[in-house]
Amino acid sequence: MSSQMCTNGKAMDEISGDGANSATLSVKPVVHSPTDGPLCAECRQLDKPFFDIKCSDCESLLYDEATTVSELFAILRQWIPQTQQNILMIIEQVRTIT
Ligand SMILES: [Zn+2]
Repeated sequence: MSSQMCTNGKAMDEISGDGANSATLSVKPVVHSPTDGPLCAECRQLDKPFFDIKCSDCESLLYDEATTVSELFAILRQWIPQTQQNILMIIEQVRTIT
């Protein structure tokens, strides 16, 4: 009878309600063509293979207006612990841009 009253359910309602208000049905899907993840100049010089979220210059690229959704998805594809631990932050950035 009261199975829908748990706090988890409430949080999910808030999330889906937000999406329904802004973007769900009326917006056409957008294709973001794949690209490499962003790297700061220093990491590029060090020839690092991955966007390094622990590097403060790379991290600031996350919030850079020039960083594209494609690049954020490239970071998400680096399925390493640093990405996994910061996935909410990255998703939030995708939401901010789109
Ligand atoms: Zn860096």
